[in-house]
Amino acid sequence: MSNSQAASAADSATLAGLDAWRDLPIKQQPDWQDRDEVARASATLAGLPPLVFAGEVDTLRSRLADAAAGHAFLLQGGDCAETFAGATADQIRNRVKTVLQMAVVLTYAAEMPVIKMGRMAGQFAKPRSSDTETRDGVTLPAYRGDIVNGYDFTPESRRANPDRMIDGYHTAAATLNLIRAFTQGGFADLREVHSWNKGFAENPANARYEQLAREIDRAINFMTACGADFEALKRTEFFVSHEALLMDYERPMTRIDSRTSQPYNTSAHFVWIGERTRELDGAHVDFLSRVRNPIGVKLGPSTTADDLRALVEKLDPDREPGRLTFITRMGAGTIRDALPPLLEAIKTIDARPLWITDPMHGNGMTTPNGFKTRRFDDVVDEVKGFFEAHRAAGTFPGGIHVELTGDDVTECLGGSEHIDEETLATRYESLCDPRLNHMQSLELAFLVAEELGRR
Ligand code: PEP
Ligand code: MN
Repeated sequence: MSNSQAASAADSATLAGLDAWRDLPIKQQPDWQDRDEVARASATLAGLPPLVFAGEVDTLRSRLADAAAGHAFLLQGGDCAETFAGATADQIRNRVKTVLQMAVVLTYAAEMPVIKMGRMAGQFAKPRSSDTETRDGVTLPAYRGDIVNGYDFTPESRRANPDRMIDGYHTAAATLNLIRAFTQGGFADLREVHSWNKGFAENPANARYEQLAREIDRAINFMTACGADFEALKRTEFFVSHEALLMDYERPMTRIDSRTSQPYNTSAHFVWIGERTRELDGAHVDFLSRVRNPIGVKLGPSTTADDLRALVEKLDPDREPGRLTFITRMGAGTIRDALPPLLEAIKTIDARPLWITDPMHGNGMTTPNGFKTRRFDDVVDEVKGFFEAHRAAGTFPGGIHVELTGDDVTECLGGSEHIDEETLATRYESLCDPRLNHMQSLELAFLVAEELGRR
């Protein structure tokens, strides 16, 4: 970039108000020790290539508009917190396969396009309920995700290190590269629908999946015999998303697109604002109000109708189709009371956001033996409550947001493997929230498919 080009990019960013957040109240940021180090890391990030392109972001917005209008369904899933060490070929492949399998189940049962989106390739920053953690009388900064500090409980590891943002970028790039290869290079071909099940342990959900895969095969064979051309089945669109939490990363990844002169956050196709950072006058809402990406907002049980209307006015003043997704995370015991007033409120302001359910974050609990977990039955119950509320209001239940992994971990209680409190200890790997394992994810997909089918 020449000096004059750099100057005009800076002018456009100022015009777009991309730094207005700096003067606003902000939550959940690391306690960086050295601002110069942060500025250097941010400048490095600003010079690195975009991870996603504006055109892809625009495509996603139009897909989400279809979902908001009731013609498609969004499946968003992945780790609570991705780790740098977890960005291995096997783990990424298993997560992509799990999402593809869930999407097939949903598409087939509901006869509706499914938009596939990973909580992947950038889900590295975590909000925490406390700034510090104390173990055996020693207090250190809380772990805020691999993009900020390390999980090991030592002062060196827990120090917020700005260079980790650069590592986060490169890990996201490597992850996204593999996702693109898997989904564009033949692996996601619908004729491979059986092979996505290979390598997973045998269990009832897999058996049910196999049966469905055989039906899909028969349908494809029939259409092939009729002379249909399946070029379109070879590839699938797969989008990536994360919580836009760490502003010193999100800001330098946001660029003015040369074609449209509009700001795009090029770190992911879709970014969302978490339940803890959605204050109307706070930094996160201001910043995301200014980017062109489709954005999400998590809504917990305390959300009022006024909050909702104000968020719409601020984040989607033009009521642009596909722009705004509300991700409700109310808790199984609360959703049937908390969601209906919000669905009614939206009707009073002529807005049509996409509504999706996160049946995970309102259902956390800690077992007597000290594991942070969730009951699969509560997850299922919240999903059912979500569909019920939308059925009653006449609005469209447009998607699901879940924490999952393709591995056979034991982090959530229940499911048809009957994971109990003792079993949790056998394979608990999450550094943050408990995830559905491969089988629980598939089981959930069958259940959502049934709900969607009888909508
Ligand atoms: C999350 O998605 O991991 C999370 C922290 O969610 P929420 O903002 O809904 O609490
Ligand atoms: Mn989480």
